[in-house]
Amino acid sequence: MPYSLFVSDLHLCPTRSAIIRVFFDFLRGPAAQAEALYVLGDLFDYWMGDDDDDPFNASVLTALRELAGRGVALYLMHGNRDFLIGKVCAEKAGANLMQDPTLIELYGTPTLLMHGDTLCTDDVRYLEFRAKVRSPTWQQQFFAQSIAARKQIVAGLRSENNAEKKLKTEEIMDATPAGIETALREHGYPRLIHGHTHRPARHEHVVDGRHCERWVLADWYTNGSYLACDGGGCRATKLAAA
Ligand code: MN
Repeated sequence: MPYSLFVSDLHLCPTRSAIIRVFFDFLRGPAAQAEALYVLGDLFDYWMGDDDDDPFNASVLTALRELAGRGVALYLMHGNRDFLIGKVCAEKAGANLMQDPTLIELYGTPTLLMHGDTLCTDDVRYLEFRAKVRSPTWQQQFFAQSIAARKQIVAGLRSENNAEKKLKTEEIMDATPAGIETALREHGYPRLIHGHTHRPARHEHVVDGRHCERWVLADWYTNGSYLACDGGGCRATKLAAA
């Protein structure tokens, strides 16, 4: 039976070399047999711009392109870490950039794909930050800097964010019932697949009397993981330890 795979929150970066091996094995293994691979955000731990010719990033894009070359449809969605991925990067990976959210028809089941950060509606400070860094003005100013200067800006933003995170409760950084219900209602009560919260689970929601399934993808910190969906439904699979 044809199937599609979903991953998110790999946070690939040169300092985590074990996970990159798990990822490359995944691309040559289960992903190579799939009809499509959807990366729902935070493939990379950071993305400074498509003009960053970092060899580690290039090796990831090459591996993805190989997969696409085998006829696997490849989709990339921005996460909160790698939202600066642009057309050039997507092209190098042989991938299609996907809007967040995107509603797809998945083997007969309407399925809403999101990264998941916009579901955390209690985190008002983060949502303000998100709006700022996604504005064309901010991005123009950012891309006008050298790669080294951009790295400093990101490091600064990150230490601010980490300091703030310590003051936030676990609940504030999770998807909220209101955020989830709004997304489901606005898209006609689909199945929902998202990542970001690093709380892998299958949930059931009843919204306006309609039953909706929600899958939360796992991060790739301790081991790899993917969700496989076919006409019979979805199931999560763990990969080797990183
Ligand atoms: Mn994220």
